[in-house]
Amino acid sequence: MRKKIIGGNWKMNRGAPQDAKDMLEKLIPLVKDIDNVDIVIAPPFTSLTAANILLNTNIKIGAQNMYFEDKGAFTGEISPKFLKALNIEYVILGHSERRNIFNETDDLINKKLKKALQEGLNPIVCIGEHLEEREAGKTKDIIKTQMDKTFFGLNKKQMLDTVIAYEPIWAIGTGKTATPEQADEVHEYIRKLLNGKYDAETANSVRIQYGGSIKPDNALELFQKENIDGGLVGGASLEAESLYAIIKAAVKSK
Ligand code: PEP
Repeated sequence: MRKKIIGGNWKMNRGAPQDAKDMLEKLIPLVKDIDNVDIVIAPPFTSLTAANILLNTNIKIGAQNMYFEDKGAFTGEISPKFLKALNIEYVILGHSERRNIFNETDDLINKKLKKALQEGLNPIVCIGEHLEEREAGKTKDIIKTQMDKTFFGLNKKQMLDTVIAYEPIWAIGTGKTATPEQADEVHEYIRKLLNGKYDAETANSVRIQYGGSIKPDNALELFQKENIDGGLVGGASLEAESLYAIIKAAVKSK
């Protein structure tokens, strides 16, 4: 049985420490008794220390990115060692905004992924197709290529330690959600690829989140699908009440 996981990706919002703290102080008591869903909040780097109030709660802290080197002349980048020093447990890698706006390639994401795993961070790795690719019937080809390249060289244990977020790019921040059937079909395909590359245990165990305009009113039907293990939530994760409603949907979907 896979444990559902809800991630809140704040993107470049709530970067002022007090602003982050205000939201988290509301969220902590709301979710304090939930132990059957993993909850991760990924604030901007500037709010990561404020997120320290999450230590000793059931909410884990995530970063939205990292570099694959320990230290050195990499202006503007953040080392996984720095994240570990702040007790960060998760890191989002390969978000479509990183891929499309900042030109991150599968190869770069693969390097970051291997480094995150080596440092004991739990990676949440995003994959997903553009609208034109879906309309051209290429969704599965795109997913296969991204899987082959992004997860290149991972052994079974490393794959099991990785969370995959299927995020169709046309559904991110657009208000357009993939239907539960569209999402589940791709998640099932991802499991098929994992089965081919590893084995049935890996295919059945890796957690695959859906991401793309999840809201309190569409979360439950998505999370009830067999292959969907929770969600990566952008806009609706910025307020405690809406994120709590989505977390409750994950609890209820069991
Ligand atoms: C995301 O940032 O990963 C995301 C899915 O955003 P939104 O929920 O706003 O579409």
